Amino acid sequence: MGGIRSAGILAVGSELLTPFRTDTNSAWLTARLNDLGIDVRLSAVVGDDAADLAGALRLALARADLVVATGGLGPTSDDLTRDVAAAVAGLGMELDDAVLAKIRARFERRGRPMPPSNARQAQVPAGADVLENDVGTAPGLWIPAGERIVVLLPGPPAELQPMFDRLVAPRLQALGVGRKIRRRVIAATGQPESAIDEAASPVYRALEAGAVPISTSILASAGQIELHLSAAGADVAAVDRALDAAVERLAAVLGPVVFSVDGRSLEQVVGEALAARRLRIAAAESCTAGLALARLTDVPGSSAWVVGGVVAYDNAVKIGALGVPAALIESHGAVSEPVADAMAEGVRRRLGADVGLAITGIAGPSGGTPGKPVGTVVVAMAGPGSSAIVRTLAFAGDRAMIRRFSVAAALDLVRRTLA
Ligand code: ATP
Ligand code: MG
Repeated sequence: MGGIRSAGILAVGSELLTPFRTDTNSAWLTARLNDLGIDVRLSAVVGDDAADLAGALRLALARADLVVATGGLGPTSDDLTRDVAAAVAGLGMELDDAVLAKIRARFERRGRPMPPSNARQAQVPAGADVLENDVGTAPGLWIPAGERIVVLLPGPPAELQPMFDRLVAPRLQALGVGRKIRRRVIAATGQPESAIDEAASPVYRALEAGAVPISTSILASAGQIELHLSAAGADVAAVDRALDAAVERLAAVLGPVVFSVDGRSLEQVVGEALAARRLRIAAAESCTAGLALARLTDVPGSSAWVVGGVVAYDNAVKIGALGVPAALIESHGAVSEPVADAMAEGVRRRLGADVGLAITGIAGPSGGTPGKPVGTVVVAMAGPGSSAIVRTLAFAGDRAMIRRFSVAAALDLVRRTLA
């Protein structure tokens, strides 16, 4: 065998083709296979149908050295993965007495007789190796298919994950090509994807042509743009050095929109900046109603730098709980720089924080006016110095996106001010 370089992944289960269950196994397996230097060439979700499954498995085997399938190893008649894989590999089935005894013992330990249907799970393709499942009843299988390998694992993540790490990864490593895939993520906020892509693209063309070729991809979500860099090679130290140099180059080109190059989230970066200066923050949120505070407190240990906040949705709360002058709201409107400023100052003072953060905006879809259309958001930060910093922003998108953009902009205002 020339080593395992490429893999296909099949997620088996008709429930995964409904809107109610999402295939998470494939992403988890992709990360693990990449760590082993194995590229994932294709991935498919297949229902509990023998012909569909056989077709997908044949396609995957034609394109990849290794196919990992998850799910459909249970005892019921709709669990077809074992039988189909044996048929595609051209192997007959044999009853494995050791597996049968294990399954029976598992039921007896719980004081129940083994249902006869579970005997199906002891059927093993001739020449396959059984991968023991310490958590559930369905054992996995390592099936040679000519020059290629098919690995079957049970569907529940709690079962397949320890099985992959303990039983599959070491075997793949032994067959491996001695190559590792390494990755870096550059995370930025405050600019649209197109602007970041434009600034970075001259650099990543150079990276693709380097001695250690580095491939890049850009991923955007509301309020966060990520550049993903990856490179492969036998000399891990050389790959890491090339990636570090690439990160440095890109971060320099992109400038202050970059908030992390080491996997830290924006809220983590903000929390660390506050903690380093021994500052505590409080937030007054109108259109985001606590989302900023939720993100700030996603970080373990955030009680060291988060005081709390006020959801000031109704103007009465802005006035009563934050001390925003009613006249200010009347003359400028609730979504305005003076009101955001007063909200930030009010929450800072009333909650005894060093830094006050405020968000007020029009998340839509209704409530916009020609002067202040949907997506108009004002963020403000009061303290630790004297004068507040206020920004008026215009976001495009639906209500959920505008709320997420608003939170990112508010957190980024704190990050940049403390930097
Ligand atoms: P078992 O005998 O333990 O049930 P199995 O191989 O038959 O193993 P399935 O019946 O196909 O597993 O799946 C069991 C459960 O595992 C599913 O209901 C689902 O919750 C979870 N699961 C299956 N496949 C996936 C997947 N690709 N991603 C996430 N969860 C999955
Ligand atoms: Mg199933």
